Amino acid sequence: MWYVAFPFIAECATKILFGLSGVWSIWAPIAMIISLAIPFLILNEKIRIVKVIYLFIIYLSVYINIAHIILFNSEISTNSFMSIFETNLQEATEFMVHFQSLKLLIVTSLFWGIGGVLFLFYDRILYGLEIQARIQKKYLIAAFIVIYPIFSFGDHRCKYPFEKLLFSYIEYRQDFARNTELLNKRAGFKFKNIRSLINSNESQTYVIVIGESVNKEHMSIYGCDINTTPNFDAIKSELMVFREVRSAHCHTQKALKGMLCFDEDFANGDIITFFNQAGFKTFWFSNQYTSGNCDSLTAMIGSLADVKKFINNAHYRTKLSSNYDEKLIEYLRMALQDKAKKKIIFLHLMGSHLPYSKRYPPNFDIFKGENRSNGKSVGVAQYNNSILYTDYILRRIIDLVRDLNDNSFVLYFSDHGEDVTEKPDSPHSHVESLSTPEMFDIPFIIWLSDIYKVVNKKFIDEWDTSKIYKTNNLIHSIVEIARLTSDKFDEKKSIFFSGK
Ligand SMILES: [Zn+2]
Repeated sequence: MWYVAFPFIAECATKILFGLSGVWSIWAPIAMIISLAIPFLILNEKIRIVKVIYLFIIYLSVYINIAHIILFNSEISTNSFMSIFETNLQEATEFMVHFQSLKLLIVTSLFWGIGGVLFLFYDRILYGLEIQARIQKKYLIAAFIVIYPIFSFGDHRCKYPFEKLLFSYIEYRQDFARNTELLNKRAGFKFKNIRSLINSNESQTYVIVIGESVNKEHMSIYGCDINTTPNFDAIKSELMVFREVRSAHCHTQKALKGMLCFDEDFANGDIITFFNQAGFKTFWFSNQYTSGNCDSLTAMIGSLADVKKFINNAHYRTKLSSNYDEKLIEYLRMALQDKAKKKIIFLHLMGSHLPYSKRYPPNFDIFKGENRSNGKSVGVAQYNNSILYTDYILRRIIDLVRDLNDNSFVLYFSDHGEDVTEKPDSPHSHVESLSTPEMFDIPFIIWLSDIYKVVNKKFIDEWDTSKIYKTNNLIHSIVEIARLTSDKFDEKKSIFFSGK
């Protein structure tokens, strides 16, 4: 049964080489080889064509997964289909990353070459007929019935290669159908009376960075005594640090829906549609997942942008990511060079999403924690490393926008907080059923360009950085800081409303 075993050995080796072997321990391919080999052995030699088709499906689906790992550093997932079908193709070609085509060519030749040789010569003579003659079918059927369910249930089970492909596609289609329904319900939606409060002929480049699971109490810019935000601290005088901002929800989807839609309802208009209709060129670059309960609505809002790119091709259930957040900087850089006069660029970070240790490269593994039995200290240290890395990313973003010397701001906030302390009962997560204060404590930081400060001096003078504010009305603040207004805008719901 070498020809059944070979693709799994190749897939397992690829994952180990690409560092994806964490959730895929060695027992999984072995179990799959056994369970997939059984129907192969049961099939009668006379129906050889069925065997060939069966083998071909296994080979093809494993091959697609291997190719996906080589190209995108992650296994095939719902996100893969999102990035294939939802990305604006013309713009995507401009941003096309260099595919590692030589590596893929070598692996393709080896995979199909070795597989073909095994199938044609080696195994058929040595093993196939011999095993088939020796093992009685009823035992094989019984073994299959026992083994198959072990790998067929539960969220974290191992996926057979063809179902990984099939179910990812089905999941993508379901998301797509749900999103289309939402859009159809709102067909023809128009904001009324959108206008700019400043000279609308002026060039404007606004950047909004949406963080993930960041609790401001872990940031030195907010007074934490661990040096987690040295880059922010170094440019403190350039920043407006709002100290009393809380998310309205600690569930990602609810939190972001509140932030990005008027009245927390997509039907009342969303932030991207608003800026599209306001004459801005809109960009959405995301390292987040695109499907599942937490992320599909946000990804759908993002996909309404003129230019969008979803760079994370990992499946949301794996909680992995195919890139660190700094990959988004490439896209930001290209968007900043875009010739459009008025631009708004959204960057959706993976930030401090669980598992924290997967969110930063090895050179940001600075805080170590103490290896005590409950692991809380190590968890806190890893979380702080993820904040340290986000601080580095944000500084790079600000530096790029500063170099532009345009009428600009960079607004950074997190979708919700996270409860990450060394206390034994700290959950190291954000869950609605617990809803601890730490899960709502978020950073809200603004950098302004010199031109922005001059143009909007009177407006900025009224800001109160100690204002208590909940982010379910955040969209009003974004509209206002972009110096726009419309029928849906309510200044009283903006963080910048002073009541004067
Ligand atoms: Zn979240």
